[in-house]
Amino acid sequence: MGKFTKIAWADSTSNPWWGCEMISPGCIHCYARTLAKRTGTDCWGHGAPRLSMGDSYWAESLAWNEQAAAGAVGKDGKHWIVFAGDMCDIFDDAGLPSERERLWNLIRQTPHLTWVLLSKRPENFVKHLPADWGDGYANVWLGVTCDDQEHGYPRVDVLRNTPAKIRFLSCEPLLEDISDVNLEGIDWLIVGGESGASSRTFDLAWARALKVRCAETDTAFFFKQLGSEPTESGQPFSIPNPQPNGKRDVHGKAVVNFPEDLRTQEWPDSDRHSPLPRTPSLLSVFQTPTNQPSDSAPFDKATNPFSNPGPRRADAQNRIESFPEYAPGLSSAELLPVLQWV
Ligand code: SF4
Repeated sequence: MGKFTKIAWADSTSNPWWGCEMISPGCIHCYARTLAKRTGTDCWGHGAPRLSMGDSYWAESLAWNEQAAAGAVGKDGKHWIVFAGDMCDIFDDAGLPSERERLWNLIRQTPHLTWVLLSKRPENFVKHLPADWGDGYANVWLGVTCDDQEHGYPRVDVLRNTPAKIRFLSCEPLLEDISDVNLEGIDWLIVGGESGASSRTFDLAWARALKVRCAETDTAFFFKQLGSEPTESGQPFSIPNPQPNGKRDVHGKAVVNFPEDLRTQEWPDSDRHSPLPRTPSLLSVFQTPTNQPSDSAPFDKATNPFSNPGPRRADAQNRIESFPEYAPGLSSAELLPVLQWV
């Protein structure tokens, strides 16, 4: 396989652009922002121009499609899963319209790839999904982040009412108990704790409760990682280190280190297609007091710690295109702590 990702539920990643802005508490330790800062890009924060990719970068997916057509599959044994937008949010209003259009064209040209789109801005699905989306492209799995109740539940409601081949939730970093989330129409749920410096705690009871809900609702359950601060019955859960292979697993990604009852990594049934009816207005679901626009407090421009553009845009772009696996100009030693967050 060509480029690969350490993300447990994907095989490759591809981005129509780099850059985003915090929109909810789950973004506070966004690894993509950290990686962009390390590369010296000025694409992060309110008003910062997003960074586009070159033709050679876009061509990579076409090559993967050829390999997938020849039978190459990835971690689930069935698909070559491409996570589109791990360095951006495809449905960000501040994204690049021409590049978003280019992504839709690319997805149409690569039927042998399975594209996974994850957003914290599903209120924009209705605006930014392509005109020929219909019941959902056959090779696209559409998901939202559900990391807490206040911001996550409205997103799930929008997703449920959006046609898609597969609908999924990424509950990472899971910040509280969300076990009463409505899983109707949801095919797949990914759960994990936060990793990296200053991580927030992740109570393993929250994951177990979600696993039970998934079993009740015929939703595939994928436990991705313990994160850096897992807790069990109010006490820190100790990740065995070093592992038998001598490596350290500081972010709890090794399945062997999961509690036995959480060593579950299921994949959605891609043969199932259960589109729910469209609602008259997807936006109505989001018109609640808890829905804050991205430039409102507490994540406003003045206080947003990520609104800090730097000057080396063109240089960074060149490096992004030339270095494998999103590591423009970084040595392995520099990159490792960042990639471990992914
Ligand atoms: S929406 Fe995603 S990419 Fe954007 S800041 Fe939040 S976590 Fe990062």
